[in-house]
Amino acid sequence: MYNYDTNLFMSHLYEGVYIVDAKRKIVFWNTGSEQITGYKAEEVVNSFCFNNILRHIDAKGNQLCFGGCPLQNTLETGKINENDVFLHHKNGHRVPVTVKTMPLYDSQGKIVAAVEVFTDTRFKEDTYDENKQLKKLLEMDNMTKIYNRNYLEFTLTSASVENNQFGTSFGILFIDIDHFKNINDTYGHNTGDEVLKMVANTISSNIRAEDVFGRWGGEEFIIVLKRINLETMKKIAEKLRITVKNSYHKLEDGKEISVTISIGGSQYKSGEPVEALVERADGLMYESKQSGRDRYTIK
Ligand code: GH3
Ligand code: MG
Ligand code: MG
Repeated sequence: MYNYDTNLFMSHLYEGVYIVDAKRKIVFWNTGSEQITGYKAEEVVNSFCFNNILRHIDAKGNQLCFGGCPLQNTLETGKINENDVFLHHKNGHRVPVTVKTMPLYDSQGKIVAAVEVFTDTRFKEDTYDENKQLKKLLEMDNMTKIYNRNYLEFTLTSASVENNQFGTSFGILFIDIDHFKNINDTYGHNTGDEVLKMVANTISSNIRAEDVFGRWGGEEFIIVLKRINLETMKKIAEKLRITVKNSYHKLEDGKEISVTISIGGSQYKSGEPVEALVERADGLMYESKQSGRDRYTIK
């Protein structure tokens, strides 16, 4: 389905992401952070950022951990900060990075954590535009121009980390086009592709800006919805069911092709692997198929 090699590009994507809680304890550390700093997640998670693992210094050599910590500032003020600093690599040398810190809120709007995203500046200066392009390729599905499965999996993992740490709720909708094989069989694969794009467009235009919508595979899609309850999920699902059913792809002879979708939806249960949530939603989607298609099953 994809004509690029994810692993090939991954090694060029030096973007570190880590999260600290309100006490500045590191609770999440991604592979990008491991690549940039040399520290593995198990070496840093649960230690405090002021334990001086990274020992950010500015261009003048000032130690930022003790006065001027960008994470501390974000936790206190909620401000998004961007700084060029030098951090300490496990091997001892200094790495120039651009650091961006952002606050994370709980459901009451209280700041409970901060996320730091850092990029290796040397790499950024050399090939910043290329990097952006590669990142886009890594995250996007070529055909439909929505997020791909990689990015959905990344989003699901981050959402589960956020849920387990801070109790932020999230759910997913698993969407499958009904009798899609008939479209290919009747009109050919190219028209099938156009219908697939039309459905992706329709769904993109009818979800909340913060929802992450991507192609899971073939004619299956997943939407990750944060800070959501089952009632709202049902409303969104019903809106999508109706809008897709009432959209069409127009052939050159003027014929309008429409499809329907079957949806399954469920909420994440704290502690479970994200795969369990996907399986549950897939199973509920299948229930929608069994009971007649063009409907949702959400519980
Ligand atoms: P159901 O209502 O049970 O989901 O029926 P279905 O025909 O949609 O389900 P099935 O899984 O049997 O078929 C899915 C079809 O989607 C088969 C496959 O050829 C087609 N498909 C998957 N990916 C693409 C694609 O990228 N382009 C096109 N044109 N077709 C695709
Ligand atoms: Mg399918
Ligand atoms: Mg199908």
